[in-house]
Amino acid sequence: MIGKRNYMWSMLRLSMCSWIFAVWISSPAFAQTDEEKVGEIAAARIMGAAPLVESLAAQRYINLVGHTIAQLNDGGFKWRFGLLRTDSVNAFATPGGFVLVTAGLVKQLQSEDELAFVLAHEVAHVLRRHHYRVVIRQRLAETAAKNLQAATGDLGNAALSQASAQIYARGLDKSSEFEADRQGVELMTQAGYDPAASIGVLERLQKLKGDDPRAELLFATHPSPAERLDTLLQTGVDALSRPSPSGELQRNSRFRQFLTLF
Ligand SMILES: [Zn+2]
Repeated sequence: MIGKRNYMWSMLRLSMCSWIFAVWISSPAFAQTDEEKVGEIAAARIMGAAPLVESLAAQRYINLVGHTIAQLNDGGFKWRFGLLRTDSVNAFATPGGFVLVTAGLVKQLQSEDELAFVLAHEVAHVLRRHHYRVVIRQRLAETAAKNLQAATGDLGNAALSQASAQIYARGLDKSSEFEADRQGVELMTQAGYDPAASIGVLERLQKLKGDDPRAELLFATHPSPAERLDTLLQTGVDALSRPSPSGELQRNSRFRQFLTLF
């Protein structure tokens, strides 16, 4: 009886995950560009290592905050945001509008405005085509695109998968990260979030540095939070105007509710 119940539960979980994945990834009548194909393969690879959190309410919330930021400057992309079920502290952007953030990182945050900065930094990577440009530079995308147009396609997927694995293990150059911080602050401010929350995020990450193995990959692929903070402060982020406190109360109440969902 218990075995049967466990089986039913795992089947339910499996079908729910597949459903979330299918809704998230697929879109009928949507012609995919090579950039989106690259992004989809990279996102699928990341989700193969850490699956999406099963709570639909949690995924809806991440998408609400993400779309609030991306809708003002969508770059013509079809944006999809996802929350990954892992204690690792990290966030990923893949070409074509895919943004993934880990539960481990979200649990370090104290407000919706801080989450907005994390997502806005990733949105900026997509808008600036930071990862896709690296793929092109490696000439792997070019080869893969030709293969993708061919009837077989398998070889193309393998090449793209290999290219994306290299980027996410090695990271981008420092200037791309500083650029994503700077544009991320602009995007979140335009969307009505408090730009000062970016300082809170980087200060909190700085405290994790050095002694938390959950953030190892993040620190290996990004400049140190202290360096990012210095660079951001030079842009005058702390002097930008703040939104009204009443909106902040509402945002923080739904953020606290969101944290109870996973
Ligand atoms: Zn980054």
